[in-house]
Amino acid sequence: PPSSEYTPTIFDRIINKEIPSTVVYEDDKVLAFRDIAPQAPVHILIIPKVRDGLTGLSKAEERHFEILGRLLHTAKLVAKQEGLDDGFRIVINDGPKGCQSVYHIHVHLLGGRQMDWPPG
Ligand code: 5GP
Repeated sequence: PPSSEYTPTIFDRIINKEIPSTVVYEDDKVLAFRDIAPQAPVHILIIPKVRDGLTGLSKAEERHFEILGRLLHTAKLVAKQEGLDDGFRIVINDGPKGCQSVYHIHVHLLGGRQMDWPPG
């Protein structure tokens, strides 16, 4: 779990290009890059460039409404870019019970195979 909203994560180093990642989309507010341990043929993480207290979705406030919308809209754009025309899955893990491991909010975009429901 996070020690505080100020504790840096590995994603800061990805945003700052201090460690390499395969970026598939970038604008002034969001970054999308391939997950290092893909759980599907397409597995992309979409993150805000500025965390602003959003360690996870459970910390969302009204000031985050715009960035939350942008994250989801970017997921849709990247799904299209990746050719996921038959469907895809969006996941936001939150907290220990949600299997969150990086405390900088991120949307998982998964696709390229048949998904199961319910998830484990
Ligand atoms: P969470 O478990 O917090 O929902 O998702 C964190 C994700 O970040 C995991 O799927 C993990 O594979 C991915 N990840 C962790 N470290 C790195 C890294 O250094 N580079 C990339 N591209 N992905 C990472």
